[in-house]
Amino acid sequence: MFGRRRTWLSVGMLAVAAAGFAQLAGTAPAAAAPSTNAARILYYDASRAAEFVNVVHQGANNWNSRVTNVQLRPVTAGVRANITVIADNGWPRAITTSLGNGRWYMGRVAVNDGHSPPRIAAHEFGHLLGLPDRRTGLCTDLMSGASAGTSCRNAFPSATEASRVNANFASATTSAALAAAQVHEWECFASPTAIVPAAAVPAHR
Ligand SMILES: [Zn+2]
Repeated sequence: MFGRRRTWLSVGMLAVAAAGFAQLAGTAPAAAAPSTNAARILYYDASRAAEFVNVVHQGANNWNSRVTNVQLRPVTAGVRANITVIADNGWPRAITTSLGNGRWYMGRVAVNDGHSPPRIAAHEFGHLLGLPDRRTGLCTDLMSGASAGTSCRNAFPSATEASRVNANFASATTSAALAAAQVHEWECFASPTAIVPAAAVPAHR
């Protein structure tokens, strides 16, 4: 049901992504990857997050407390934001243009359905940090999204998710590979009834 909306922008991108993830799979250590550089800083702009500004900060801080190779910080004057957060009346979703860059939407539909706003915020930041949706149904997983149900209030990444993000930002080489792979739109927290008919969207590959 969710898969229909997961539309890769091009087949070529999919191939690049597969190569990027394959490289990661072969090189990413099981534990948090030690960084040879200072943590990469990603600036986010929450000025369009309306009533969710504090929730956006919470989602960012939850990641900051669990990963070391990248940190999310509110954008300051004169600095270009890597990530823009926008509140709207749709479903939560993320549009990544490269690893660590893009925008995500704090969709009110899922909030009104009862999904935890901090969990949504942390989940969407997870996409910007290079994680895909993994609908495991486990509340301990952040990227399980709506599959964990509205009773799930966990807004922190699992150790595995944090380790993957550390690996994503462990080196310039890995980041470059992922940067080419992350042009993608993620549909998150949508209920089956919200999914448009398959015929209305491009074929999923
Ligand atoms: Zn998602």
